[in-house]
Amino acid sequence: EKKKPMVVYKKPIDFTKVDAKLLPTVMIIGRPNVGKSALYNRLIRRREALVYNTPDDHVTRDIREGIAKLGDLRFNVLDSAGIETEVSSGTILGRTTSMTANVLARTQFAVLIIDVRAGLHPLDLEVGKWLRKHAPQIKPIVVMNKSESIGESLAEVASEALALGFGEPTAISAETGLGMTALYEVLHPLLEDYMVQTLNDRCSQDDVTSEENLSEEDESKLPLQLAIVGRPNVGKSTMLNALLEEERVLVGPEAGLTRDAVRVQFEFQGRTVYMVDTAGWLERTERDKGPASLSIMQSRKSLMRAHIVALVLDAEEIIKSQRSMTHSEVVIARRAVEEGRGLVVIVNKMDCLRGKQNSEMYKKIKEAVPIEVQTVIPQITGIPVVFISALEGRGRLQVMNEVIGTYKRWCSRLSTGRLNRWLIKVMSRHSWKDFASQPKIKFFTQVKARPPTFVAFLTGKTQLLESDIRFLTKSLKDDFDLGGTPIRIIQRSVL
Ligand code: GDP
Ligand code: GDP
Repeated sequence: EKKKPMVVYKKPIDFTKVDAKLLPTVMIIGRPNVGKSALYNRLIRRREALVYNTPDDHVTRDIREGIAKLGDLRFNVLDSAGIETEVSSGTILGRTTSMTANVLARTQFAVLIIDVRAGLHPLDLEVGKWLRKHAPQIKPIVVMNKSESIGESLAEVASEALALGFGEPTAISAETGLGMTALYEVLHPLLEDYMVQTLNDRCSQDDVTSEENLSEEDESKLPLQLAIVGRPNVGKSTMLNALLEEERVLVGPEAGLTRDAVRVQFEFQGRTVYMVDTAGWLERTERDKGPASLSIMQSRKSLMRAHIVALVLDAEEIIKSQRSMTHSEVVIARRAVEEGRGLVVIVNKMDCLRGKQNSEMYKKIKEAVPIEVQTVIPQITGIPVVFISALEGRGRLQVMNEVIGTYKRWCSRLSTGRLNRWLIKVMSRHSWKDFASQPKIKFFTQVKARPPTFVAFLTGKTQLLESDIRFLTKSLKDDFDLGGTPIRIIQRSVL
């Protein structure tokens, strides 16, 4: 059997070769006059500054954005005057939320600056609070600026700064360049981990060069990464070969930052599909562990790289065991969903059930499996289920159609206008459990695709209940055709 290798990005990452669009984004925050601009200018070396208005712009202040160079490290750096105003005025007004959402949606890291000469200032704590509230997933790096001539009291301020709750601060001087190596040492490992994941998550550099500028339609035409997973002997290899035989097969090394592997690539209806072939090495670990188990650890790696996961089940096994999915199959499907991947379920070996005596079975399995699959994986709705016979080459087209359909839904972008018109209808449709403390969703917006991720801005302090989230998720899926893709809803409160 021919081996089907794949591309894996590994450390070290050469940031100088990474497409600017893929680089992580670091936001510089801090109260006024701590030296945000000074650090920004040092990082971008001033002349490369790019000043523009955010696209989402009725009210917004300028956000400066440029490419930072710190040794061999590269990243996008944002210096936002608007955020500073928002924090220091202590108010979270309606007008600032769209910019906040916009900036935070594009940011993965933050540098929080304090002025070492002033010590820890009450407004520094406000900045920390602001960040926790709006972007709890970002743990900022705290830097003590203006430390070129501070001497003894450095240690004192450093221990004060722990009160921010973001760990040990790093001493720098934006004006003299002191401490840039220390900053590099803190940032580099974080950004490198992020970069490895991003590169593996996406395909290759040139595939995504202009991704940010693509419309919804275009984005879903980007190369698709498909992982085929399943227990041994369900027919993964047979299906893979069936899919490949129909199309032009290209197997060979792909250019990547680390070229220690290759992947399978084929074209389907003019679209490039990269197949992450779990079959080969999954089989190997299966042999070690006994035939019944599914190597979840190994599969997880391929899940991280995939956009869409196709889980293959065996119809014969389903009939025998009287259940659609084994425990390990459920685990792997849930894992895929947790990782934000789209899911398609394929029931193979349907040819085994075609005989007369089996026609009842045939009907039954077609009815029962979609229902059971949906029951055991309630995290996403509308999971496509395809019935095929890989051996006879039946159902290949259906498989690819569902995979591509799910991928398109996974890439969906819904306009804020459309969502908020939808919100009005949907709010009246749902019977909110606790009417007195009923949260009011003021504004609903999509901040990210792949998978679709939404932010619900709530008035008051209440949070949505689990059941409300489920209702919203299901309504989004029904009303906007988002079957088979995870849908994420983030809650933010506006006072
Ligand atoms: P921002 O309001 O946070 O953007 O702060 P700026 O970058 O405009 O800096 C505020 C003031 O601090 C300016 O007068 C800078 O020259 C000064 N400053 C910035 N960085 C340093 C530094 O590392 N050392 C010293 N001594 N002054 C600095
Ligand atoms: P993998 O371990 O999941 O890659 O499974 P394989 O593709 O190696 O197939 C395992 C066995 O199932 C082989 O003997 C295949 O011939 C058989 N098989 C695969 N697909 C089908 C199918 O659609 N129908 C039937 N009857 N057998 C199949």
